[in-house]
Amino acid sequence: MPSRRDISTWRRLGLPAVVALAVAACGTPDAGLLDVVYAEPAEDREVRLLGPGETLGQILGESLGRADQQAVLLAFQEQASARRMRVDTEITLRFVRDRELRGVDVILNPDETVRITRGPYAWRSSMVRTPTRIDTLLVSGSIDQSLWASLMENEFLGDMPYNDKGILVDELDRVFQWQLDFSRQIQPGDAFRVAFERQVRPDGSMRGGHVIAAEFVNVGKAYRALWFDPNGDGKGSYYDEEGQSVRRAFLLKPLSFRRISSRFSNGRRHPILNTVRAHRGVDYAADTGTPVMATSDGVVQHRGALGGLGNAVVLAHANGFTTRYGHLSRFAAGVRTGSRVSQGEVIGYVGMTGLATGPHLHYEMIRSGRHVDPLAVDLPNGDPVPTEAIDRWSAELTPRVALLESVPMAGGARYVDSDTDAPDDAPGDETDDDRP
Ligand SMILES: [Zn+2]
Repeated sequence: MPSRRDISTWRRLGLPAVVALAVAACGTPDAGLLDVVYAEPAEDREVRLLGPGETLGQILGESLGRADQQAVLLAFQEQASARRMRVDTEITLRFVRDRELRGVDVILNPDETVRITRGPYAWRSSMVRTPTRIDTLLVSGSIDQSLWASLMENEFLGDMPYNDKGILVDELDRVFQWQLDFSRQIQPGDAFRVAFERQVRPDGSMRGGHVIAAEFVNVGKAYRALWFDPNGDGKGSYYDEEGQSVRRAFLLKPLSFRRISSRFSNGRRHPILNTVRAHRGVDYAADTGTPVMATSDGVVQHRGALGGLGNAVVLAHANGFTTRYGHLSRFAAGVRTGSRVSQGEVIGYVGMTGLATGPHLHYEMIRSGRHVDPLAVDLPNGDPVPTEAIDRWSAELTPRVALLESVPMAGGARYVDSDTDAPDDAPGDETDDDRP
């Protein structure tokens, strides 16, 4: 139960109020105390960024003779290609005593570092995977301008890297892609809450994650999606509380919401140029090269120039539906007349061919010769939770719904404390950092 103080501090935050709590599902194990056996000689570290045209060999050559330089390169090549190193790759040279090189660390990407160490007889290399821990981010927000702004400018996610917020947007979009077109349907006053399981690196950035439970309230109607993996093979899906699949025969839009929104930095400019009523199609502004997805399984009826639509793809689907995608800069490989495509498959890329004043996608949906608004088509197309998995579904459902409901819906007056580690006064905490 919320205390009065919770509610008042919650209100004081103003709307859109957004709360971010992180619940550690499992923490990094404590290193504990090690017995000191001997003291390592002090190590000097020198961090270098690979310059344009510079090679790892050149950097090594400043500290090593030719034989050692070659040996280090060979050891490195056992883990990665020295030719494929990007400009600004971070290289740490580890010296002992009088500038004697003892080791080299090369950060290939946020998750992989090649570590080369001088042994008694030879240089040895190993690949060090950046360790991650798992936590669950519980976040809610109410929408003032757009979902994009609500997440990107969310003060409670202030310490989350921009790219990580982008992953969160992508994952929410993926969950609701059959129910809601975030770029067209979101209204001020809409709200969401989500439980997002993340893999987090020691520096706080995220390697990846997925939504385990989410709720979106759009114009007063609540949509819920709960992750469940019926076969336990990692190929799970989302279901509503009744165990019905959230999948539909058509995606509501052929582009990812992130790609539609990200070019409008503050999310305040409306990314939709026209609506279906104005000219029988929806125009989505997005950068040239943005992947365009087939909104449903189908067969390619046309691939090529099509009047004012420029480069266009026309797909034929079941039940007399046709979809058209215009102004493409290019087509995806393998997409040709007569070929089959599946829902979500990339068929081409945004461009401005034909009659277009700027890069955008023209999307049309036609049924039996008549244009329809994609938002008005709601054809279920996913299996419900299979009978043999019902018991496990029921067992997982209750705690998952409880977890979701433990997140105070922004703007609402209903707070449900969960049995997690989230402190009671989390919403009103002066600092937003409730992470254990
Ligand atoms: Zn158009």
